[in-house]
Amino acid sequence: MEQPTENKNKDQWISWNENVKHSYSNMIKIGHEKELQKAVQENSSIRVFGNRFSSADISAGTQTLIDITAYDKIVSIDREAKEVTVQSGASLEKVINIIQSCGWCIPCLPDINKVTIGGALATGTHGTNGYILSKYVSKFRMILADGTIKEFTDADIETDAVRVSLGLLGVFSEITFKCEDNYILHLKEEPMRDSAWLSQLDDYLATYDFVRILWLPHTDHGYVILGTKVNKDFEFERKDTPGYIKHRRKTSKFLYQYTHKYPKFTATANKILYRLFFTPKKEHAGSLYDATVTKSRGATMELAEWTVGYSKFKELFVELKQILDDKSNNAFVHVPMDVRFLKKDNAWLSYASDEDVVTMGCVCRDSPAADDYEAFDRVEEVFLKYGGKPHWAKRFKAKHDELAKLYPKWEEFKTLREKLDPTNKFLNPYLTKIFTK
Ligand SMILES: Cc1cc2nc3c(=O)[nH]c(=O)nc-3n(C[C@H](O)[C@H](O)[C@H](O)COP(=O)(O)OP(=O)(O)OC[C@H]3O[C@@H](n4cnc5c(N)ncnc54)[C@H](O)[C@@H]3O)c2cc1C
Repeated sequence: MEQPTENKNKDQWISWNENVKHSYSNMIKIGHEKELQKAVQENSSIRVFGNRFSSADISAGTQTLIDITAYDKIVSIDREAKEVTVQSGASLEKVINIIQSCGWCIPCLPDINKVTIGGALATGTHGTNGYILSKYVSKFRMILADGTIKEFTDADIETDAVRVSLGLLGVFSEITFKCEDNYILHLKEEPMRDSAWLSQLDDYLATYDFVRILWLPHTDHGYVILGTKVNKDFEFERKDTPGYIKHRRKTSKFLYQYTHKYPKFTATANKILYRLFFTPKKEHAGSLYDATVTKSRGATMELAEWTVGYSKFKELFVELKQILDDKSNNAFVHVPMDVRFLKKDNAWLSYASDEDVVTMGCVCRDSPAADDYEAFDRVEEVFLKYGGKPHWAKRFKAKHDELAKLYPKWEEFKTLREKLDPTNKFLNPYLTKIFTK
């Protein structure tokens, strides 16, 4: 049996993009549920972390840290129920490969496959279309603050709180996904003027099974990706983009290397990137996972992401574009701002807890310069004005009072958190400012 390793030395925990750093005194690497139970029971202040991709300061900041990434086995496959149970430290990549080999899918996937299941679920990670990932979980096996195990299913009223809970109600142990039959998406991708894609958005959402706009700020264009579910024998003329397209991220990094000093150059860089990388059209097909999820990234980045009710999006977009293009501020944005669409769900802390929403990303491709990236602040102001919600795993400044207004079940979540974690074992300083008052 693999033994947990404990590091009693003062050491540093560093996030993927190196923007969050914390010292700790006790690192516990777990490989088995009993070790996870023991670690939770015996320590008074802990955070659990997965693959450290989150930009928000939510994964460390306590003296004891639990590294869950070796707790990553596939536990069982129920072919009749189309259910797969996995340990929460497993990567999405590993889980989807197993699910696809059964001929199934989870019909909404984020644009990253290296995250852990626990980290993705805890933060309300959502698909490019459809729902948040936790919509497809039928059972959460969780270690509570006192070390006991509880299983949450649709029969428990707290399950919709657990679905997006940032590790504040307990630690996910085993997760059971309810899968669906896999399908093929036929995708067409092309650039369009903002006025064109914005005016056709309602039609796109009514007509297509997959809609994503990679908005290219300061260029007046978006790269529109539309997909339809098709049969396996569907015939079409495949259109590939030129081979050099694979150098987009490297070229972006090169062009953006001085934009923290000369923010206005971002607009020129975006126009170059648009011409080089976002004008070729593409037509292809594959499973949702194979055709739409990015499998590797050349460089780190700092991310923010906001959601807003679909009914308010077009008005918000017009105002946001005006502010970002206003030369009197330095809110220049690296490409793309990813525009995606989610359906309403019931999770208490979900971005879509009360309505269908649009999500909009904001990326800084120069991670060390993120604190000086003015766009993060301007984007946050505009979204808050329209009642928008921030992505829990990404960068935002709003704290308890602003967030409390956005979630109908905010106070209920806080009450449940206090009941399940009366000694605040799972709070770090950042989360304390958000969830206590
Ligand atoms: C390049 C990139 C692309 C992304 N794309 C998307 C996207 O398309 N859609 C989207 O919604 N998000 C996206 N994200 C956000 C990403 O899904 C989250 O940051 C996710 O939490 C990362 O998983 P992780 O394993 O790195 O978790 P970590 O960052 O290590 O942890 C995140 C949180 O989960 C908690 N946690 C971890 N494991 C457990 C557990 N077992 N039980 C309880 N709590 C736990 C941690 O304490 C922490 O609070 C993206 C992020 C990046 C960097």
